[in-house]
Amino acid sequence: MNVIKSVRKMQSYSESIRKRGGKIGFVPTMGFFHEGHLSLMKEARKVADTVVVSIYVNPTQFGPKEDLSKYPRDFDRDLKMAGNVNVDCIFYPSDREMYPAHYQTYVDVEKVTRNLCGLSRPGHFRGVTTVCNKLFNIVKPHFAVFGKKDFQQFISIKRMVDDLNMDLEIIGYPTVREKDGLAMSSRNKYLSGDERQSALSLFKALKVAQKMYSAGEKKSASIITKAEKLIAKAPFTAIDYIKICDAETLKDIASVNDKTVMALAVKVGNTRLIDNHVFGEKLEK
Ligand code: AMP
Repeated sequence: MNVIKSVRKMQSYSESIRKRGGKIGFVPTMGFFHEGHLSLMKEARKVADTVVVSIYVNPTQFGPKEDLSKYPRDFDRDLKMAGNVNVDCIFYPSDREMYPAHYQTYVDVEKVTRNLCGLSRPGHFRGVTTVCNKLFNIVKPHFAVFGKKDFQQFISIKRMVDDLNMDLEIIGYPTVREKDGLAMSSRNKYLSGDERQSALSLFKALKVAQKMYSAGEKKSASIITKAEKLIAKAPFTAIDYIKICDAETLKDIASVNDKTVMALAVKVGNTRLIDNHVFGEKLEK
């Protein structure tokens, strides 16, 4: 497996694959891999000739009071895990390589980034879309795979790629969960045993919401109230938001249908967790 740290080397590596007609599949990550990340890599492996994974904890998507400095990292472990699923190349740049002195260009996808996490993490998606735009220019993939666990991120990237006529396909992959339903996340590492138990309330709330919808409830407000009660009852939880939105525009919507998403962000202890469910889709586990 190749490990490339320089932008220029990554570009010429990808260029040589493209010249010989190879199809490049790309999985951008912040590392500290779990089965969710690996599933994305395996999905890319199915159709790509060359699978490139980036590991980069992008500072521009973290707010000043967020967990940038303590975000979990373990490059050697990541390398082994990626090797086990036959990744061809890891792009592992430094901050200086990505944001040299005098850096000043950002991409802002407007409407879909303003609701949900955009309300409590101003500037977060500007950092995400900027770094993905840069990574796409560096890795030159034919397609990139994103997890739908970060639903607003997935929608924002798709919007950017469409709006800016970027020449790659964005593929969404369903949320990978632990056996008990907790959505896998690098941040789960921060949870104590008791907090992890409470964190299950996110999945339980999505389950209850789906059950209400299947039983005929269409009012977003009723479903949200029920979910709020369920999560608030669990110890250590502080709800940031629970919302039901159109799954494409991410605007709040009063009446639920198959193409609406219920999205939630909850602090469990000091750890902020997110999860979501599109009502017309299967809620695994
Ligand atoms: P991250 O390293 O957290 O930035 O995530 C890298 C990619 O993995 C993103 O596309 C995430 O949406 C995706 N991802 C993270 N957790 C999961 C999960 N539990 N299931 C599916 N995809 C995930």
